[in-house]
Amino acid sequence: MYCDKCNESIGYLCYSTYDRLELKYKCNCGSQGSVIIDFEDSKIGKKCNNELIIIKNRFCCSKDNESLITVLDKKVNSYEMKITYRSCNQTYRREVK
Ligand SMILES: [Zn+2]
Ligand SMILES: [Zn+2]
Repeated sequence: MYCDKCNESIGYLCYSTYDRLELKYKCNCGSQGSVIIDFEDSKIGKKCNNELIIIKNRFCCSKDNESLITVLDKKVNSYEMKITYRSCNQTYRREVK
């Protein structure tokens, strides 16, 4: 994933493990961007109150350790994301200000 304005990479996705992603971020360059990825067959996720866990830089499901996304903290000022796993159908939220 890249910032529209400065083209710096702000993170990486593990393509096969998510069902839906909403990410809003403010890049260090000052630009605000958002990413929404949804599939035609996406299901509505079950709300999950657990925090994502971090394994080797990647946010992972706290239930099955499945890896999902890396957000490069040093490249973004703040971000907010909502992401649903494909296999366990849990929706995690994370907000960093
Ligand atoms: Zn930028
Ligand atoms: Zn899971």
